[in-house]
Amino acid sequence: MNANVLEKLKILAESAKYDVSCASSGTVRANKPGTLGNTVGGWGICHSFAEDGRCISLLKVMLTNYCIYDCAYCINRRSNDLPRATLSVSELVDLTIEFYRRNYIEGLFLSSGVVRNPDYTMERLVRVAKDLREVHRFNGYIHLKSIPGASRELVNEAGRYADRLSVNVEIPKEENLKLLAPEKDHKSVFAPMLYIQQGVLESSEERKKFRYAPRFAPAGQSTQMIVGATAESDKDILFLSSALYQRPTMKRVYYSGYVSVNTYDTRLPALKQPPLVRENRLYQADWLMRFYQFKVNEIVDDTYPDLDLEIDPKLSWALRHPEQFPVDINKADYEMILRVPGIGVKSAKLIIASRRYSKLGYYQLKKIGVVMKKAQYFITCSELPMRTVNEMTPQTVRSLLLPKSAKKKADENQLSFVFND
Ligand code: SF4
Repeated sequence: MNANVLEKLKILAESAKYDVSCASSGTVRANKPGTLGNTVGGWGICHSFAEDGRCISLLKVMLTNYCIYDCAYCINRRSNDLPRATLSVSELVDLTIEFYRRNYIEGLFLSSGVVRNPDYTMERLVRVAKDLREVHRFNGYIHLKSIPGASRELVNEAGRYADRLSVNVEIPKEENLKLLAPEKDHKSVFAPMLYIQQGVLESSEERKKFRYAPRFAPAGQSTQMIVGATAESDKDILFLSSALYQRPTMKRVYYSGYVSVNTYDTRLPALKQPPLVRENRLYQADWLMRFYQFKVNEIVDDTYPDLDLEIDPKLSWALRHPEQFPVDINKADYEMILRVPGIGVKSAKLIIASRRYSKLGYYQLKKIGVVMKKAQYFITCSELPMRTVNEMTPQTVRSLLLPKSAKKKADENQLSFVFND
């Protein structure tokens, strides 16, 4: 491999690492005779997760890290003095094919800084995907970032070659986005999102009439929000996510804890570390909305605008609603069983299936995979000796279930409170 290209790759892969919106979920396309690659199986460079939880590998890279924009939260902003590089369309295409043939990757995640203007940049991204598909018959996974402000024509063309398209919201509130990224606004993000949605829906209608009508971004779209760079609450973030999930083609919203890369910029908070616990809680809340039938206003509201960092959002909801418990495992419906802390989707389904044959007790639930350490305070079943949340208090249950580190902190606070008093 050409040393110059390798050097560029090093720079551009490093520049791409802050974008987390690249899980390769949604497409299952096998290898066909006369084509190269597929969207399933293997190992590689950047690990992402498919919708079924399978780990897959992508070449995650930028076409260029030059950018005419100056977004405060971005390492690649034009005012930063850092090594810059640009791959030509053919260099990137050859690199992808070569990595694929060597079995390093199963697909490509391609983004770019904005050069000249959004359409000029988008056109080059589209050419990469087009050449891969049409010249090299590449059948592997392609995820393209749509450049904010790109035209409908180019987004439409991108959708013909990419499995997934994504446009990053980055900052949930427009006034904060404008403060940190003056060249962007919500319109430049939401317009391409709408083009993608229309493309996917039109294509699925076409395919109902004509079996071989071209597919459009069959894995739908995703987006990313940065957490902790601005003052938005978890409520602001999750309400926007919930609204985005109402859109039929939005598959995933990713949350990226703000990494303090531009410490000199006084518009940004001085974070010593990215808010990883908060990021994790947001993902848990996101799962509650997507798989546990929670509505966003049950997770966060005006009284609780931010997620509890010490306990997960499902446990937090349960402790705020002791009146909903205990749940009778042998009688309750699936939706209510799903709401019990310590019971996941798989266990809830197994409970419903198993209780048809016999009454379930402590040991059967344990065998099914229920985390009894948590669930015991919220359920009744045959032969369960424990006291439930209503016989104790939510505060007592909370302190019993706090992770060790949080417990130690709480004890220290309690001590200092006692001494100060
Ligand atoms: S447009 Fe993208 S690459 Fe350019 S500064 Fe903003 S976030 Fe960074």
